[in-house]
Amino acid sequence: MALAEFELIRQYFTTAGLTFARPGIVLGPGDDCALLELPAGTQLAMSMDTLNQDVHFPAGADAAELAQRCLRVNLSDLAAMGAEPLGFTLALSLPAVDEHWLQGFSEGLATCAAQYQCSLLGGDTTRGPLAITIQVHGLVPAGQALRRAGASVGDAIYVTGTLGDAALAVPYLTQQPGFDMTALSAADRASLQAAFYQPVPRTEAGIALRGLASAALDISDGLASDLNHILQASTGPNVTPGAIIESARVPVSDVFARLVPDAEQLPMALGGGDDYELCVTVPPQHEAQAQAALQALGLKFTRIGEVVASSGIMLRGSDGDPRPLPFSGYRHFGDNGNE
Ligand code: ADP
Ligand code: MG
Repeated sequence: MALAEFELIRQYFTTAGLTFARPGIVLGPGDDCALLELPAGTQLAMSMDTLNQDVHFPAGADAAELAQRCLRVNLSDLAAMGAEPLGFTLALSLPAVDEHWLQGFSEGLATCAAQYQCSLLGGDTTRGPLAITIQVHGLVPAGQALRRAGASVGDAIYVTGTLGDAALAVPYLTQQPGFDMTALSAADRASLQAAFYQPVPRTEAGIALRGLASAALDISDGLASDLNHILQASTGPNVTPGAIIESARVPVSDVFARLVPDAEQLPMALGGGDDYELCVTVPPQHEAQAQAALQALGLKFTRIGEVVASSGIMLRGSDGDPRPLPFSGYRHFGDNGNE
């Protein structure tokens, strides 16, 4: 690597705001490897996500927001396992050295790294089409990670926060015909922008749900699709669990309720991706404690349905009859997904 690129790394990445001391980190960036020392009785949780220009974000996206989004979606995976953030590595492919862009990217990353106490451990910087890969590392007490396998018939299904906001944001942010950002109030604009670029990793919720939730994941592809992962992972020799979702309980935000036509609300809230809320199953004997724990965090935590013995996901509307979901992995704007 050219000297100029080492200088670039020093200036924008191995900064005090991004690379800070934290128990468990013996050595950060600068050597051939970083060194971690796990406290006794803990396990290392690891996950990686890539964002590619034109696939996961539009060209010209703000660098700071992009940095935030990339780290946040990775932190969301740690949250979904009940793991506490420790550090991350960053592989960055850049078409050119744009100092203004790098400054914004570095600041966005540092804001998020500090907020979640997740320190930059190292990385790789190369030239090529803009692509950002982050790998996060987190700690979880041995045996206590929240896994997708573990849901049983009779468990309640809960989600954190509200669903569908990121799916609603995409057509506005990409300026699709009929979705005019300027027609929205400043507060609406800010809320849609944040829904996409600043998904909130439910770190504290994941940690609080250790020992209470029977299964968990973060919703990246839409609940209709992601809940199936829990059901499939939780399938035993004698039972293939399914789920009944109560349509009236599906939590949506005020801006979503206002902007999305009634008939499109459920398909979008259950099928739209990128929410990064947690979906968890909770056995009846732990429900009260789980609700209290999430309430103590000031976090919306909604019981939207139940794990049942019949397979597949059913939706129960106001008439009381469960019917098979009339959509799955719904994409409002007709692409083939973005994963
Ligand atoms: P090597 O050739 O040994 O793989 P590199 O030349 O790729 O090492 O990187 C030198 C050091 O700089 C390593 O410690 C690496 O982790 C770190 N580094 C490279 N790119 C980044 C980056 N974008 N952010 C943080 N650290 C980085
Ligand atoms: Mg080396």
